[in-house]
Amino acid sequence: MLAAALFLSAFGLQAQTTGTDIGGPEGLDLFEELNEEEGTDGASVLESTWDVNDSLTFIPGYDMYCHWNTDVLFDRLGSAKHFDHDTLRLQLGEHECDLNMPCTGGITSNFGMRRGRMHYGVDLDLETGDTVRAAFAGMVRISKYNKTFGHVVVVRHYNGLETVYAHLSKRSVQPGDLVEGGGVLGLGGNTGRSYGSHLHFEVRFLDQPIDPALLFDLEHGSLRTLEFDIHKGNFASMAAAKVAAQKSQGSRKYHVVRRGDTLYALARRYGVRVTDLCRINGISERSTLSIGQRIRYN
Ligand SMILES: [Zn+2]
Repeated sequence: MLAAALFLSAFGLQAQTTGTDIGGPEGLDLFEELNEEEGTDGASVLESTWDVNDSLTFIPGYDMYCHWNTDVLFDRLGSAKHFDHDTLRLQLGEHECDLNMPCTGGITSNFGMRRGRMHYGVDLDLETGDTVRAAFAGMVRISKYNKTFGHVVVVRHYNGLETVYAHLSKRSVQPGDLVEGGGVLGLGGNTGRSYGSHLHFEVRFLDQPIDPALLFDLEHGSLRTLEFDIHKGNFASMAAAKVAAQKSQGSRKYHVVRRGDTLYALARRYGVRVTDLCRINGISERSTLSIGQRIRYN
């Protein structure tokens, strides 16, 4: 069914995608975040329009991906299975300055393990309503609402990289739109699973996340390298990170909230700061605890 859905959506036929189509064998699932949160939201099917007259040859990187899905954020079963190269050299630009910063704010959170799970992008500071721009020229593959990513835009670039712009307050592009580097994709915001306005920015190749810091100097808005070598190790490191995440989950310690517990009391009892409790549990200092709630304290 998945293959059929991918094929149909490439031609704009309105394939009904269900939650189960998006899932896959657990052993292959590198994308924990999407596993829980990706679902059908009705509107996305209507938004996925791809004119049958548009030629697949115009789709950036089509030869690498062999699909163009305007509804499912990532093919978790893996475009990577098409990756049978030893090393593939991607041209990122001609000059160091050929990166367009998605927004003007600095990094607030890096790629990597965070609260016991993988954070597959970097978070960049912005105010709701700030302009969000495409890092490079390309074609919009996804423009939809997702429970985790909120209003999210994914752009496929001509070298096969995809960039992801999440938690937007407004999207101003549609699937199939061509964008220039620096072209406006929408406005930043705080939608989806987000605590405060920021841009969650990801770089993917064949649906596999790559640490943006390997490619870009996001503090200075420039390319770290003009050419980036993709090899199987890029994907293997993701599998290793997933195993590490599962291991670390085993050592988490939780307090089950009883009547009268407060964040401040729990912080004192376990010798942690209230801000850390809030951070690892994804709650705010003003949150009311409910009896029976599990609060992680390490
Ligand atoms: Zn993020």
